[in-house]
Amino acid sequence: MHIIKKQSGVAFKLKEGQKLKVIDPKGEQVSDMVLFNAKDRKEKLSSGKTMDFEASILISSGNALWSNRSQKMMEILEDTNGRNDFLLAPCSPETFKVMYNYDAYHPSCYENLYTNLEKFDIQPDDIPTAFNIFMNVQFDEKGKISVDPPLSQAGDYLLFEAKMDLIIGLTACSAEDSNNGSFKPIHYEILG
Ligand SMILES: [Zn+2]
Repeated sequence: MHIIKKQSGVAFKLKEGQKLKVIDPKGEQVSDMVLFNAKDRKEKLSSGKTMDFEASILISSGNALWSNRSQKMMEILEDTNGRNDFLLAPCSPETFKVMYNYDAYHPSCYENLYTNLEKFDIQPDDIPTAFNIFMNVQFDEKGKISVDPPLSQAGDYLLFEAKMDLIIGLTACSAEDSNNGSFKPIHYEILG
């Protein structure tokens, strides 16, 4: 079992057929995940293709995560919480400036993704919309969005199976609103 400390991130490889378990150890903590084809980094996770092919904006167990080249990257085998977001981009330094008028340095998923993915020759501009595990984004019938506290409780997890060799970036999200005001770690395990 690996620990991602609060407001930080990791990057690692996962082989086709291996499984990844992402766990919220304390509850109410979001984890942003991005995927790249380990053999060709220009192929990466696509929110648009996933919502198109899965015919849903709510992605959970039984759904797949698809690439910009319309290939399956992962399948979600289990999801004990059942609420994730695939609409919003990773929080970035600008998120805190534009949305909260916060001018000082603030840790962000974007920075934690690109600094950790640099060792795999992935650049900041390569980061796609992340699959936001445990993130509770609600929307009304007019399309108005709100970021609500996660519904995840301590021990909730998602289990993914890789459908190709992957490079993965994974965070413990740094945004106050996404995590009900407090920052917690994320745990993960690689199985098989
Ligand atoms: Zn974040």
